[in-house]
Amino acid sequence: MSLVLRDITLTYPDGDGRLTALDRVGLDVPAGTLTAVVGPSGSGKSSLLAVAATLVTPDAGTVTVDGVTTTGLGRGELAALRRRAIGTVFQQPNLLPSLTAAEQLQVMAHLDGRSPGAARPRAVELLDAVGMADLAGRRPHQLSGGQRQRVNIARALMNRPTVLLVDEPTSALDHERGAAVIDLITRLTHRQATATVLVTHDRAHLSAVDRVVEVRDGRLVDQVDGSPAEGPAASSGSARRVGSTR
Ligand code: ADP
Ligand code: MG
Repeated sequence: MSLVLRDITLTYPDGDGRLTALDRVGLDVPAGTLTAVVGPSGSGKSSLLAVAATLVTPDAGTVTVDGVTTTGLGRGELAALRRRAIGTVFQQPNLLPSLTAAEQLQVMAHLDGRSPGAARPRAVELLDAVGMADLAGRRPHQLSGGQRQRVNIARALMNRPTVLLVDEPTSALDHERGAAVIDLITRLTHRQATATVLVTHDRAHLSAVDRVVEVRDGRLVDQVDGSPAEGPAASSGSARRVGSTR
């Protein structure tokens, strides 16, 4: 199973006009592969992840997760799809201060209507997979930034998601720890067979990923040859602002 984005256009209100954050973007991420998305600040990387996460509805285009196309689904159905099939890791770990590392993971099972106690073995297995087995009983304030990010990644995998979406996980880490986190996400993608999209502005450490695409002004280009990553070729120049009457 996989993640498929087709012809996604997303605009935001911008004064009297609209700002085009994503311009007919297409991306196909097969299960068990990692696509890295690079590009300068403000190019549309987080917007792309928000659409893929079904948190933002695009102006046009479709998102298909696990064979389910989200167009027309209601809020409740989208929330259920997210809980079941989509794991997200955002820049800040957002761990709950009072819970241990293992409990952070068990809460995910609880939110999905399953017993947190029964989820303990899965939590322990995942903490082991991210090198945190010995620290399962620690609370966030007893962990380093890199360790908290590892818990965050393990938590995202708790409900066996089809899709794993990761936004700049290394921004708060030093070079070496950043490399280790990207390496970890790559290994987990292959082992847990997730369709993974990893946004990073750091082009280092990307040698092991399956594909690197770049966002430039809301358009996607393959890094290798600069051709459009998927879908119709990007046309006219740099007309990002549409309908502006200012
Ligand atoms: P990146 O993650 O690559 O830094 P973003 O996707 O966050 O880029 O932003 C792309 C563009 O959309 C930027 O010009 C940004 O200012 C704008 N933008 C992002 N989110 C919003 C929002 N909620 N409302 C209005 N404009 C936004
Ligand atoms: Mg961003």
